Amino acid sequence: MAFKHNGELTDKTDLSFNTGGDFEIEALSRVTVNGSLVGPKDVTWDMENIGSGRKERFDMEGGRLRATMLRRMPVANGKFGPNALTLKPNNPDCECELKREMRAFFTSSSKVHPGKGSGATPNWFYYWMQTSASGGLHAEYTPVLQAQGLGGASMSVGGRYNYTSDTVYLSDKIIDKVCATRSPETGGGNSKGIDCFAEIIQHENQHKTERWAWWGGTDPTALSFMARMQQDAAKDLVPDEVEEQLAGTRGCKSNDPTSCSSRPDGSLLDIEMDAYNVGWSWQRNAADAEDWSCGRSKQWTGGPCYGQ
Ligand SMILES: [Zn+2]
Repeated sequence: MAFKHNGELTDKTDLSFNTGGDFEIEALSRVTVNGSLVGPKDVTWDMENIGSGRKERFDMEGGRLRATMLRRMPVANGKFGPNALTLKPNNPDCECELKREMRAFFTSSSKVHPGKGSGATPNWFYYWMQTSASGGLHAEYTPVLQAQGLGGASMSVGGRYNYTSDTVYLSDKIIDKVCATRSPETGGGNSKGIDCFAEIIQHENQHKTERWAWWGGTDPTALSFMARMQQDAAKDLVPDEVEEQLAGTRGCKSNDPTSCSSRPDGSLLDIEMDAYNVGWSWQRNAADAEDWSCGRSKQWTGGPCYGQ
């Protein structure tokens, strides 16, 4: 039996939805039962987990049955992955079931997922937020985050905690680039894909946690909070009293913005004394089995991806 996926012949097991959010399978086969040809009315299609946007078409072409199935992307990330395709008989006497094992993937950059943020957030963000890599944390998507301070305007970053809106933002840099080099103690090397996503969301969320722990429960938009930040002698976003408390254990100095130990890079402000290490405590590959991003997932064994 020959299979066409999104219009092209394929014998692959790993297949992806296209950038428009469609998944089309066409099977062309001469199927006979007890010598008589199986026709368009004898079978129906079944895709194991994905029934959304289902549409089927059956016709004959030169004595062969052509069965076409169209699916739209699922709401839940857990619906991707193993999805056997089955041509099932309508007639119980017809032993004409045909099964093909496959795994379904999504393209990363297109914004065609259903549900919240459809058309606005890319598929990688929507589906990875549903995996253990997000740690159940909250984040918003924004396409580009310009680096602040060091590096100049041409530099961009994958994540940021915004102190004013009290929100963690993630950007496309996460899938366009690899993550920062880890310290040797946390494994070294550069994480990418869903591991980079996990590192960055934990890192930025650490800033959120410390903001509430160190600066108290003040409304982040209140002037008093901004005014207190201005009183911070070192302007390193760590309150003077916290730096004084940590003077003995971590060498922090309230009048020096780059004084606390455990910063992975001497040029980083003291606000970074924990966030990198928290992000780098993510165990690489831990979410691989939940990652169905075409071409980026380590599970992908298919060919090139549609625009990824
Ligand atoms: Zn940081």
